[in-house]
Amino acid sequence: MTSIDAAPAIELDALEKHYGAAHALRGIDLSVEQGEVFGFLGPNGAGKTTAIRIILDLIRPSGGRARVLGFDTQAETVEARRHIGYLPGDAIFYRDVTADELFAYVERLRDGAVDRVYLRRLIDDLQLDAGRPIRTLSRGNRQKVAVIQALMARPALVILDEPTTGLDPLMQDVVEDLLREVAADGRTVFFSSHLLAEVEQVCSRAAILREGRIVNVFDLAEQRRIAPREVRVVLEVAPAADAFDAVPGIRVLSVVGTEARFETDGSIDALIKALARHTVLELESSEPTLEDLFRKYYEAPDDQVTHEDGSHEDTEAGGAS
Ligand code: ATP
Repeated sequence: MTSIDAAPAIELDALEKHYGAAHALRGIDLSVEQGEVFGFLGPNGAGKTTAIRIILDLIRPSGGRARVLGFDTQAETVEARRHIGYLPGDAIFYRDVTADELFAYVERLRDGAVDRVYLRRLIDDLQLDAGRPIRTLSRGNRQKVAVIQALMARPALVILDEPTTGLDPLMQDVVEDLLREVAADGRTVFFSSHLLAEVEQVCSRAAILREGRIVNVFDLAEQRRIAPREVRVVLEVAPAADAFDAVPGIRVLSVVGTEARFETDGSIDALIKALARHTVLELESSEPTLEDLFRKYYEAPDDQVTHEDGSHEDTEAGGAS
């Protein structure tokens, strides 16, 4: 018997799925560690939902296999599912019951393993009127029901297919906080999204799927560290045009009068030390954004993806971990 403690939350091994001649997944390798918030990105039709459905054993792969916390999703489906909370992309619930009745039903399915204080907090945080029949709720409020039923049993692995679809920006923030909390608790979140900013803000890592292959896996903390950052300063006295040319790790974008603009590759320490020789009146540092980096993978031609450093990746190579 595998120890759940030691196993990756999700392991995909050469996962393939075809529908006749159409290849939805072309050999996916991926390992998601426990305690991660892992994002699954990619254009429409890339295969995200297909991979998620295989992980839940709702559909069977044409090749390869998937494990959840060490359990084979096909041979040990019940054990694997016991540890998963799932939000489907097209959540359809019994329409005539209230949200409260649905949550009571989920609690019975989970053999009563639900922390009611936590459930009440989820309902409060998401401002859901849980006493109303689900059919009378707006789309966004139905999505809140879907989010809550996935989280309420505090499962070891939360799998969400586009969790914030239809939610207003404040409620998106609430859901993002709830997902961070899951990870802080040592549990795992795996979610697909089209909201690049959301993935950037919440995830520890993210995989990009294109045409059934994983074309890259980002370590977002590392990307944030090395992403270029733009710094703008206004000095009391105009510096010499070449005043900052020798500062390591920066690129001088412009020096016009008393205003200078720089691009730094990660650390701004050397620049701060160089600026200390001047009287600084204003300093602005733009947060690096990873959205542009992600977006490239949506836009890149079919055969190649160009990295930040100019190197190329042949997408035929596929897999990543
Ligand atoms: P989206 O972002 O639009 O939700 P996705 O990445 O989740 O897309 P999938 O729904 O996994 O994409 O679809 C992957 C590919 O598999 C698509 O080309 C889709 O048309 C195809 N596909 C999915 N289900 C079936 C099916 N039952 N029969 C035939 N083709 C299918």
